[in-house]
Amino acid sequence: MADRPVLIGLPYDASSSFLRGATDAPPQIREALRTTAGNPWSERIVESVTADVLEDLGDLEVPATGDARRVIEDAIRDLVAQGRRFIALGGDHSITYPIIRGMAGRVDPLTILQIDAHPDLYDDFEGDRFSHACPFARILEEGLAARLVQVGIRAMTGHGRDQAARFGVEQIDMRAWYDGARPGVEGNVYVSIDLDGLDPAFAPGVSHREPGGLSVRDVLTMIDGLTGQLVGADIVELNPRQDPFGLTAPVAAKFVKELAAKFLDDDRW
Ligand code: MN
Ligand code: MN
Repeated sequence: MADRPVLIGLPYDASSSFLRGATDAPPQIREALRTTAGNPWSERIVESVTADVLEDLGDLEVPATGDARRVIEDAIRDLVAQGRRFIALGGDHSITYPIIRGMAGRVDPLTILQIDAHPDLYDDFEGDRFSHACPFARILEEGLAARLVQVGIRAMTGHGRDQAARFGVEQIDMRAWYDGARPGVEGNVYVSIDLDGLDPAFAPGVSHREPGGLSVRDVLTMIDGLTGQLVGADIVELNPRQDPFGLTAPVAAKFVKELAAKFLDDDRW
């Protein structure tokens, strides 16, 4: 039996290009997980988020500077060295780069399944190579993932298209999704969920609302049908300052619950 997976908050939003606020997300997601309005059972009818199943490590103390990357990378490296699998709560999407660096050498070859409206492949964004618009360019430049599969893309630029071709990124944009294309992954799989991959009707509490996206059920179906071994996951870009009715934190919490159930399922077989 593998060790219990862990939940870890990475409250960092200093690499967000447009709005701050994602740093406030982890406590909101925890509150949504623990509210007595719901229960800790996943749709597979297993209790997946009680303390004896998913250990909560709380929030990492992360500086609001570029030093955050080293802090995050070191913390993840420690976890992975102990054989722990994790669900990380962002924070802006820039945190995925140090997370994947922290996993390097332990989970090769790695496939990343990214759910996002944006490809986040900028070589640099407004002079910042570590912006939340850039993490997957850094990851692929360093050869840290064998495959990157992106789903939900609908805010692509010409530069993004060129970068995707350069790095061999597999994209299922929203037009292809609507036509029935679905991701196929195997081996070690890391899931990175940028909540703006969802339609703002389902998840308005994000910094970059992009209409025409995935439904909550689309993402749950992807998690439930995930093939390969889940080695880690992040849920990023919840911005509580953009979420006046508190609709989006429960969506993030739902994904935590179902990802944790996936870990349990992997342990069983
Ligand atoms: Mn995005
Ligand atoms: Mn993103």
